[in-house]
Amino acid sequence: MKVKLLTAALCCAFLHTQAQSDSVMFKRIADEIMLNGTCYENLRVLCKTIGHRLSGTPQAAEAVKWGQKALEQAGADKVWLQPVDVPHWVRGQEKLSLRFKGDKDFKEVPMLSIGNTVGTEGKPMQAAVVMVNDIAEFNKLDIADIKGNIIFFNYRFRQDIINTFEGYGDAGKYRWLAPNVAAAKGAAGVIIRSVSTGEDDHPHTGSMRYADTVKPIPAVAVGNMTANLLEKECRKGGVTAEINSTCKMLGMVRSYNVIGEITGTEHPEKIVVVSGHLDSWDVGEGAHDDGAGCVQSIEVVRTLKALGIRPKYTIRTVLFMNEENGVKGGHAYADSAKARKENHILAIESDAGGFSPRGIGLDMKPEKKEKILAYRKLFYPYGVYDFDHEEGGVDISLLQRQGVPVAGLLPDPQRYFDLHHTRNDVFEQVNHRELKLGAVTLAGLVYLVSTHGL
Ligand SMILES: [Zn+2]
Repeated sequence: MKVKLLTAALCCAFLHTQAQSDSVMFKRIADEIMLNGTCYENLRVLCKTIGHRLSGTPQAAEAVKWGQKALEQAGADKVWLQPVDVPHWVRGQEKLSLRFKGDKDFKEVPMLSIGNTVGTEGKPMQAAVVMVNDIAEFNKLDIADIKGNIIFFNYRFRQDIINTFEGYGDAGKYRWLAPNVAAAKGAAGVIIRSVSTGEDDHPHTGSMRYADTVKPIPAVAVGNMTANLLEKECRKGGVTAEINSTCKMLGMVRSYNVIGEITGTEHPEKIVVVSGHLDSWDVGEGAHDDGAGCVQSIEVVRTLKALGIRPKYTIRTVLFMNEENGVKGGHAYADSAKARKENHILAIESDAGGFSPRGIGLDMKPEKKEKILAYRKLFYPYGVYDFDHEEGGVDISLLQRQGVPVAGLLPDPQRYFDLHHTRNDVFEQVNHRELKLGAVTLAGLVYLVSTHGL
């Protein structure tokens, strides 16, 4: 009994000391990033010297070189490129004009084609506009109302949903759904109200894919202001739209995931991934989506190296290619991990913006989650308190399918969907302290798991 008590006391004292030393390490990590962090400067270079970098473009190839160099400068033990074949979609020229009842002329409005869609081969395509507010209304339309017309899907991003990522899940499906259901019933084209929380007129692009069973039709998005106007005019009737665009899908292009590693001292075969995606849409600068996640993941390596921390487990920063319109990088990484029988103990992704971190999403078995939750108080001084969501990331979801525990950085979500996939997602929209605090959170989690295991 006495021995048991003594053991318990020693164990308790050990855990207490461990918690204390973890908290000291967290402070050292945070100080290093807040005082000497290079992630903001890295983001400036990525956004301002390369800019947007859709998969398959010369800018995406430049971004690969940039990522490789940045990881080397961060001090990674090994940096390598993992080949990925990606689709190359080009936007080309695009124009949407509207003519309202009683008007003689068409008026051009701000728009963006939805990514991966077909265009009109540079020829103007005119058709009457038919508005529906949601899919239920669409399903009630007579086929004669759809055939040959342009269907305006006027579904609003729900402002009453406080977590905008849930709102995105709700409204975002229209970007995929609308072109497919409309094409299946013979529509000539689709206009959607952008998947946007913004009270502005920025159109938002984003991904879609045609079902094999439909003949692709052009699909474009308009900002909320234009959508409001279109809604008002559609109620009066007699609206005609003209779409003229040259967007098209080219062939596949060889590209790469960029990977940098700090090799573990005790369990080099066990891997902790921290990641973002290197590609972006072809408008704006992909600053929040997802330059932020890339530079934060690089910052994790730089910080541990700068502090002379030798992790027991291997840490890998992965900059995935092609998250936006194909997820080929996520597939390539997971396929390779499986083929090489790699042992990933945790995969983390930062792909929800460079805003102040609020939490960490945890999607894993309860006993693993408990292990991370035991450390939750270490994150509180840095404003990170929300561990209730089960979020990982799109790229790492392929590892998750193989049973790998995943985690996702959860920044404040209120402004993300004002900017997401727009011309306005630029470097100036990112605050250096918020970006660095996200890196602190990632580095803290990586430190814990690469020190104590999971
Ligand atoms: Zn993203």
